[in-house]
Amino acid sequence: MRYFVQTRSDSVSKELTDKFHRLAAERGLQCDEQTPEIVVSIGGDGTMLHAFHRYIERLDEIAFVGIHTGHLGFYADWQATELEDLVDLMSGVKKSDLLSPRIVKYPLVELEIHTDSGVRKYLALNEFTVRGIDGTIVAQIDINDQLFEMFRGDGICVSTPSGSTAYNKSLGGAMLHPSIEALQLAEIASINNRVYRTLGSSLILPNHHHCDIYPRNEQRLLLTVDHLSVPLGNLHYVRCSVAKQKVSFARYRPYPFWNRVRRAFIGYENTED
Ligand code: NAD
Repeated sequence: MRYFVQTRSDSVSKELTDKFHRLAAERGLQCDEQTPEIVVSIGGDGTMLHAFHRYIERLDEIAFVGIHTGHLGFYADWQATELEDLVDLMSGVKKSDLLSPRIVKYPLVELEIHTDSGVRKYLALNEFTVRGIDGTIVAQIDINDQLFEMFRGDGICVSTPSGSTAYNKSLGGAMLHPSIEALQLAEIASINNRVYRTLGSSLILPNHHHCDIYPRNEQRLLLTVDHLSVPLGNLHYVRCSVAKQKVSFARYRPYPFWNRVRRAFIGYENTED
């Protein structure tokens, strides 16, 4: 099996990466940066975001696995101490309880950026945000080509189900199970008065709907896709929808989504996990 390791630059992650390569070579796994079947991210959730965007052109052929070297992550759910177990399962030296590996597919958000110079498309694993550089922004929000609301505030965050536990959660958005093919639009500090009136709560759109964000002209905007800042020319609007493509994760053991949520945010340990 062909694999690649995306790693973080800290010494713990580097050390673990060296160990991974050594164990993998001993078990006959082949490191292949160009055409890996499994991409192992060693670091944190941010490292997984880097891995995802690095291989964004090959999502249909790759499954991701995450090892965390700091605190437990959402995408990075293997601990450093479990590294050898993981390599054993990946190479088939050890048999998993699951049909190894089980591939789980999570929805993504697709965004189209319409500017003077044409249309550019992006995929987000966590979310994209549109924010003001100089202060609050004004934007018209349309849903399925119909005016929905006039927004004024710090910005808009549109997240995937697996990204609903990231920035979206800090904005008071709901957590969405990744088996639900939907996107979530959350407000970043909206201002409500007679002119600008927004719903005030986050919105969840199904996969056959789309949403357009039309920022008022002459505002300096920052558009982020996951950890990336996207250069903007003269922006007309951003269209977003649930992407047709999905991201695949290789599961070598069961780790239900709600167990991750409980572990990360509530903290109770469960011996069954
Ligand atoms: P980072 O790697 O430092 O990530 C920031 C934090 O977000 C980390 O604690 C990470 O574990 C957590 N995180 C990332 N994805 C997650 C997910 N799907 N579920 C739960 N937690 C998750 O910073 P980065 O490399 O720049 O990562 C960018 C991400 O940081 C963005 O996609 C955004 O979701 C998140 N972020 C969060 C806030 C906030 O909560 N106020 C603000 C900005 C960015």
